[in-house]
Amino acid sequence: MSKSQWYEIKSLDGGVSRILETHISADWRCNIWHVQGRDVDLIIDTGMGLRSIAADIAILSERPVIAVCTHSHHDHAGGLCQFEKRLGHPAEAEIFANPTRSTVVAELLDTSVIQKLPYEGFDAGRWCYDPAPLTKQVDEGDVIDLGDRILRVVHLPGHSPGSVALWEEATGTIFTGDALYDGTLYDHLYHSVPEQLCDSLLRLKYLPIKTVHAGHFKSFSGNRLKTIIDDYLNGQRSMLCPIKIG
Ligand SMILES: [Zn+2]
Repeated sequence: MSKSQWYEIKSLDGGVSRILETHISADWRCNIWHVQGRDVDLIIDTGMGLRSIAADIAILSERPVIAVCTHSHHDHAGGLCQFEKRLGHPAEAEIFANPTRSTVVAELLDTSVIQKLPYEGFDAGRWCYDPAPLTKQVDEGDVIDLGDRILRVVHLPGHSPGSVALWEEATGTIFTGDALYDGTLYDHLYHSVPEQLCDSLLRLKYLPIKTVHAGHFKSFSGNRLKTIIDDYLNGQRSMLCPIKIG
């Protein structure tokens, strides 16, 4: 547990750590992933960022860091402005640069989500994250090189137009953001396109994936990924359908 206890960190295998915002409800907070490289570390998603991450998490102040957001929603990109190097997809560049409560779907927030005030005067009914203009746009096939490991950008529109995953072929590991997690998939937001999500999930189904680190909830295997995708394609796990899982 970090000093302020706002963030908690858990180390997993393969130089990957999961950082969570302790006081944001478990069904809302995103997974903030830290991937250790030889020359540079990668942060995948940044949470709501209601307090300083680097001040809290020692590993973030020891090494150079690149931050990439899988998409611009408030629970993933709120902390992006805290990083100097900010990567994301061009389809959401305008949202990162000029976020509003509606474009980052912060209007879904209610007071039950934030279980402890991050600072005096915080108001979940008015909050929006600070602008975080991308310093580099990344798209399908682009490579993020950490020195001794390479992650490739996979564009997976559907949940949002600029949703991306980061795929490390050498280890069979993928970071999927909100394109895929073990729960009911959000395909009903203002810029969601369910048909695109189906196409994106079908792409994932045929990658040789061993481990999925998703945007929410626990990590899981490639076999579990196939089950979740089949569920969705069969009309389950959709916010637009009556059958909900997770
Ligand atoms: Zn999202």
